[in-house]
Amino acid sequence: MTITPLMPVYPRCGVRPVRGEHCHLIDEDGTRYLDFASGIAVNLLGHSHKGLIGAIQRQAETLMHVSNLYGSPQGEALAQKLVDTTFADTVFFTNSGAEAVECAIKAARAYHQHEGNEERYELITFKNAFHGRTMATISASNQEKMHKGFSPLLPGFRYVDFDDLEGAKAAIGPHTAGFLVEPVQGEGGIRPASQEFMTGLRQLADEHDLMLVLDEVQCGVSRTGTFYAYEQYGITPDIVASAKGLGGGFPMGACLATEKAARGMVFGTHGSTYGGNPLAMAASMAVMDAVANDEFLADVRAKGERLRTRMEQFIGNYPDLFESVRGMGLMLGLKMKIEPRPFMVHLRDHHQLLTVAAGDSTLRILPPLVIGDAEMDEFLEKLSAGAASFAAAEAA
Ligand SMILES: *Cc1c(COP(=O)(O)O)cnc(C)c1O
Repeated sequence: MTITPLMPVYPRCGVRPVRGEHCHLIDEDGTRYLDFASGIAVNLLGHSHKGLIGAIQRQAETLMHVSNLYGSPQGEALAQKLVDTTFADTVFFTNSGAEAVECAIKAARAYHQHEGNEERYELITFKNAFHGRTMATISASNQEKMHKGFSPLLPGFRYVDFDDLEGAKAAIGPHTAGFLVEPVQGEGGIRPASQEFMTGLRQLADEHDLMLVLDEVQCGVSRTGTFYAYEQYGITPDIVASAKGLGGGFPMGACLATEKAARGMVFGTHGSTYGGNPLAMAASMAVMDAVANDEFLADVRAKGERLRTRMEQFIGNYPDLFESVRGMGLMLGLKMKIEPRPFMVHLRDHHQLLTVAAGDSTLRILPPLVIGDAEMDEFLEKLSAGAASFAAAEAA
């Protein structure tokens, strides 16, 4: 047998973390890394956060799982908090981002079918999007590398250029159910949608009775400096898929909807054995208690500005390597003039700095939201030393 016990679908690197301390990860061999990847925008509170650990410990001792056969005081409390914090009137809890997007897709279709419009099942989605790895969510993305080997795709998605409002408008037809879009593309390279695009999609959705479905799995939960990114565009979505940071490291997600958008999601239409279990609810409640308040959000915005300004000042030293800094809050992208992957590997292996490569030649900078000046200084030192040694190695 040559296959590994762990199904070999990931090209894993040599870093093998066994412990986390605040914004650092400690490897099997004791090496300490500065974690500006946060498990891909998940560990909002860093590692070893006392409040989050305590909440999980207390809940684990009390009650972990009962299924959705029973009433859920824990789920009601978290759903109420999400409803109070956002546009939503109602919430379905999932275990992951892809499942949250699945629920969002189902809700958008079910809305129209509930209204008697069976033919309106198609979502207009945007090129280089990432919505997850289930059959529906890979079908929602135009990225062929995710399709290969898995055909046939699920029908009902139509791809248009990201940030192309005219393209989105032209794609509307008798089958259109709505738009599914990331306000800030994550995997696609930290690309914030323009204001005109988001406002325009909202207007088109209103004119044609379409569902505006936002995938905020990566950009949501205070990452961009508002609880959800849509707030910064001054629009109200119909449905939002959320996950990643929402559990702060505990696997959970949520599909949020207005009362109107959830019309089709009635008894018996959807479900999940684990979704909304008390342990996940306790973890997420602890995360929300920490991050869903004005003081914390103002701090994220201030830190995001500071980090961005310092990065912008720095990249001028290496015009051959770096092009620009983009993003919102602490969801930052370093657009490079070369493929970002070798530089990401260099930072990781030679400077113990963890970042994430993304599409569109962009290196993702996704620190825990709890970074302080010390971590920011350490990041810039490592980035600066990394760029110098990388440039020197390139020149040699
Ligand atoms: C990560 C991600 C997903 C999928 O989340 P999983 O928890 O991996 O299923 C969906 N949409 C976006 C925008 C993401 O970044």
